[in-house]
Amino acid sequence: MGIDAGFDMVPRLSKGVVDRHNWDRFINFIKEHYKDDAQIEIKPNYIIFKAGEHPILPFEGHKFLRFSSKVSGPTAAATRVESYIDTVTRIAKVHFGSRVQYWNEGFDHFGNYDWNEVHESIRSYEQVRHAVVISPFLLLDKLGIPIFEIKDILGKGKGLVARFNISKGTRILVEKPLLTVRSMPPNELEPVLAARLKALSKASQRQFLSLRNNFPGKYPFSGIVKTNALPCGPGSPVGGVYPTACLINHSCIPNSHHSWNSNVEHETIHAVRPIEAGEEITISYDRGDPYIVRQAFLNEAFGFDCNCSGCSLPPSELQASNARRILIQGLDDTIGDPFRMMVSPKEVLGDCHSLLQVLEEEYGGCATASSARLYYDAFQVSITHGDQARASVFAERAYKARVVCEGEDSPETQRVKSLALKPSEHSSFGLCSTKWKTTREMVPKSLNTAQFEKWLFGEQS
Ligand SMILES: [Zn+2]
Repeated sequence: MGIDAGFDMVPRLSKGVVDRHNWDRFINFIKEHYKDDAQIEIKPNYIIFKAGEHPILPFEGHKFLRFSSKVSGPTAAATRVESYIDTVTRIAKVHFGSRVQYWNEGFDHFGNYDWNEVHESIRSYEQVRHAVVISPFLLLDKLGIPIFEIKDILGKGKGLVARFNISKGTRILVEKPLLTVRSMPPNELEPVLAARLKALSKASQRQFLSLRNNFPGKYPFSGIVKTNALPCGPGSPVGGVYPTACLINHSCIPNSHHSWNSNVEHETIHAVRPIEAGEEITISYDRGDPYIVRQAFLNEAFGFDCNCSGCSLPPSELQASNARRILIQGLDDTIGDPFRMMVSPKEVLGDCHSLLQVLEEEYGGCATASSARLYYDAFQVSITHGDQARASVFAERAYKARVVCEGEDSPETQRVKSLALKPSEHSSFGLCSTKWKTTREMVPKSLNTAQFEKWLFGEQS
């Protein structure tokens, strides 16, 4: 015996777009809310609350009638089930309003549906034809459907594949790490990871252990981290392991960019060019080296041989690509030379222009992150010599590129946005000289595109 309490959905949800969308948002909210709670388990088709009578929320909202449990008796008291019922009811009310009908037999309030109906609905939760893995942070399209699916990719294990055409700049995924860890030798890392894993929920532990390990052997947890971790920021010694982002495979000419947002501590994946439905979503794990060097790096660091479109070019084209990558690295080095920036700013701007062109040739419009960096370098050259006009244009371009590959909410995006408006607030303003001194208002307005580019990169006086 005992007292039942919970809520019914009245009328029940339809399979229609609006109800489906609201239910997905509600489910994602619940997952996020309880992500660190070991009593909540995510199954392929539902979320189970391991308390009281183990109430369940299905991923298909049209099947759902009731969320309830006995809330009195020894089991209920020991497992906090009443608090789960209360919280889930409150969250459901936010999403579905008066359709959520709370009842509690202790107050002589009874549910709307009879128990036979309810049990039948719960049995139907398991019968899903296509189980879609729903991460708490994956983005849904306008119809409430995830914009990618997780599929087996020939020779690569799992991967993400676009369900729809995805436009440039779309945020494909935003995800919190299961854990973050500092780089260290595997024998030291293994016990650290063992302790960190133990502290995670069962669901998170399973997600971690299901990730690919290209370095099986003595240190299995470290092998998973080495295969999968994404750096928390460029060059960071700290890496994050993610349930979904870590399934994204590498390409040397990737169609997407991954970025760590240090403000909110999550990873975002953005499309850097249009991606067609059915196309695999890819990011880059390497530093853009020529073929031989990057193959060796990818094999050593991640344990695979790359055969992406950039690595499968015919020999003559591969040779040309190698030459471009060597040129890109050479230009990157000379642009970053502070002494040259001081004494030969015009040459450095010229190098920036050359780099932009060769990036475009090599990556065909997919080099958004590199061009964001390049525009910021050009901004620095301009501002250190007091040129606010060019600096504001370069910062504006860096901002637009950052929006595409990181989104408006990225701290770096916000920083370059404010510099576009107030370039003089940069700490290097006029540091080297004021020989190019201009104001923002001096950006020429009557030039055509080609003339404007020439002006911008200092190729005409
Ligand atoms: Zn490749």
